[in-house]
Order: sequence, then structure tokens, then C-alpha cells
Amino acid sequence: MFREVDQLFPKMVEWRRYLHQYPELSYQEEKTARYIAQFLESLGLEVHTGIGGHGVTGRLVGKEPGPLIALRADMDALPISDGKEDCAYRSKVPGVMHACGHDGHMTMLMATAYLLSQKKEQLKGSILFLFQPAEEKPPGGAEAMIRDGVLESVDVVYGIHLWTPLPVGTIGVREAEMMAAADSFTIEILGQGGHGGVPHQAIDAVAIASHTVVNLQTIVSRQVDPLQSAVITVGSIQGGQAFNVIADTCRLEGTVRTFSPTVRQQIEKQIEEVTKATCQMFGADHRLTYEYGYPTLVNHPVEARRIARIGKQMLGTEKVITIPPMMPSEDFAYYLQKKPGAFCFVGAGNKSKNLVHPHHHPLFDFDESALKIGVELFMRLVFDYLDPSFSNASSK
Ligand code: MN
Repeated sequence: MFREVDQLFPKMVEWRRYLHQYPELSYQEEKTARYIAQFLESLGLEVHTGIGGHGVTGRLVGKEPGPLIALRADMDALPISDGKEDCAYRSKVPGVMHACGHDGHMTMLMATAYLLSQKKEQLKGSILFLFQPAEEKPPGGAEAMIRDGVLESVDVVYGIHLWTPLPVGTIGVREAEMMAAADSFTIEILGQGGHGGVPHQAIDAVAIASHTVVNLQTIVSRQVDPLQSAVITVGSIQGGQAFNVIADTCRLEGTVRTFSPTVRQQIEKQIEEVTKATCQMFGADHRLTYEYGYPTLVNHPVEARRIARIGKQMLGTEKVITIPPMMPSEDFAYYLQKKPGAFCFVGAGNKSKNLVHPHHHPLFDFDESALKIGVELFMRLVFDYLDPSFSNASSK
């Protein structure tokens, strides 16, 4: 462990707890952005605000010219009431909570910026700190920041997510596909209303919607290659007002998760086909809207391996876990579509401290000592990328 990471830890806890008390929702991260920008300016970095919404970037120019490394943290919180009743740093904003650890992500990047700016003389290249808004809500802040040009002349990009399903002291990473593409769809079944006792003179949207839900399940079970992964979930079904009235319309909403772009397109097409055929069977019409969310997050193998190698040097071989692909999505995927890089999980759960709640849970919290591991990993990634002899010299 870098000694200075340890020394900075009390400050990191302070920053994290401040951010935790003042969370802001996606696309509304105004005060958070101001706090971050002021901090980065105090370090003497070249700071830009209003990037891709409320995004903030800080550039640290090393003593010697070299590659440009981008490090990313997300800034937004969730519309959840903080359930940590007796917690001193509980959210002070009703109904809004950092329930995914983005307060910790910002803290790790602030600490990395702080410590690297003190090591400017040793840097053979530059670092771009990306504080990204709106990760939780598509279309998301990553794509918007990329549109605003943040990846121009970037050579590599890294992101870390604190992860309570993994115990503190571990790192989870995966070469290639790591997180799913997540799309959403809405189907409106357009039937014809009528008397509940006279079905033959109506077109029952509720009955047709029910068939549609069942038929949609056959796409994954019967149409998609069984060696591919996919999920179709209809999470909402709404139609009808009274027990004895046949509903004229019914609305379905759902989500699609995939890893392969081909399967993603196949499913989009087949949702239309299945819905159309089911409706035609009963003489109904339909309206389908299919919206693309974040794409599959695909790590670049060389960079995922770099994270694994450094993680093993830091924590020991058995503490770096090859994680299976998972169905949540992340807009870090967009950076990796444009530039080499990798995303990884830093374990942040701790059963002995009852820090066991999943992300997006009202009682979510994480072991703050994980922040040190994240900062150390960011710093080692930077030095390793800029000067490969570094890791060999400093390995335990
Ligand atoms: Mn998150």
C-alpha cells in the first residue's frame, strides 16, 4: 500500500460522508459538480465544467510528455429514501440517496487526483479525471461527455465500481463481456371495449396482453441460441378499470438484457413479430416502442489483465476474482466502445460489519476501507501504464 493512501484515508472518509449526505439525482448534479470542480481547481488542475450535462473534467499534466490516461467516476444518486436511521452521515435530502456507491467513486477519484498531483514530477504523461453525471438513467452521461469530446487523444480509460456482493479486500474483473446491454420496451394492445358478459362483440385487450406476455417468453426459450444469454422481463401490465368491462387497451412494459449485439437485434425484431402475430390472431392492433439502453460492457483483454496483475500484486493471487458476466448495465460501456480500457469491481462488502445490502437497497452502505484499495489500484494503473518498469520495482 502506498503510505500516502493510508494517510489520506481520514480525509477520504470525510469527503465520502459529505457527498453521501448531499446526494443529487441523475441530470441534477449541480452542487456535486461545483464541489468537485472547486476541489480539482484547488489542486491546480485544468478544470472544465458543464461537460455532457453536469460533468466535470480535470487534467493533470505530468512533467514529461506521454500517454493520456482517463479515469472515470460517476456522480449521481438514486430516488431512494436513505433507510440508515441512526447513521451520522445519512442522506439529508428526502427521497434521494447514494445507494450505489457513486459517493465512494467520486471520493476515490478525488483522492487519486490529490495524490497524483503531488507526484507530477514522476509522471511521464497526463491524467484526465472524468466526473460523469447521470449513470443511473439512460441515455446517461457517458455518451454525452464523449459527444463533448472528452475522449479526444485519450489512450486508455479505466473505471472502478465499488461492489458489496464481493468482500472488501478483493477485486473482480473479467476479460471481454462483463455487463449486459439493457433495453426497454412498451407495447400497447389496441382492442375494442365492451360488456364483460358479451365478449364476442369486443376485442379483449387484457386477454390478448396475457397471451402476448406468455408468447414473449418463448423468444428466449425457443428462438435464442441456448448457448447465448438473454432475459426478457415484462415488469408492468396495465389495463382495464372494472370487473365487468372488457378493456379496450392494455399496456405492457419490459426490459431486455443481452450480451451479443446479434442476439440484441434478433430479440428486438422478434418482440415485434410475436406481438404482431398474437394481436392479429384476435383482430387487435398494437404499438411497440423499443428503446436502446446502454450497450454491453466489453473490457479490452490487455487492460483487464493489467488490472488482474496489479490486483494480485496488491492483494494476493486468490483475492482477484474472475467474475461471471452479469445482467446489470453500465454506461462505462460507451467509453470502451471508443478506447482501450477496462472496468472492474472493488469488493466493498463486509459481513462482520453488517455491510451486506445489495446496491440500490435503502440500507446500502459499504466498507469505507475499500476506498483505499480503489485509490491504490487507480494509482498503480497509472504508473504501470506510463512506465511498465514501475510495477516490477514495487511489487510485493
Ligand atoms: Mn452504479
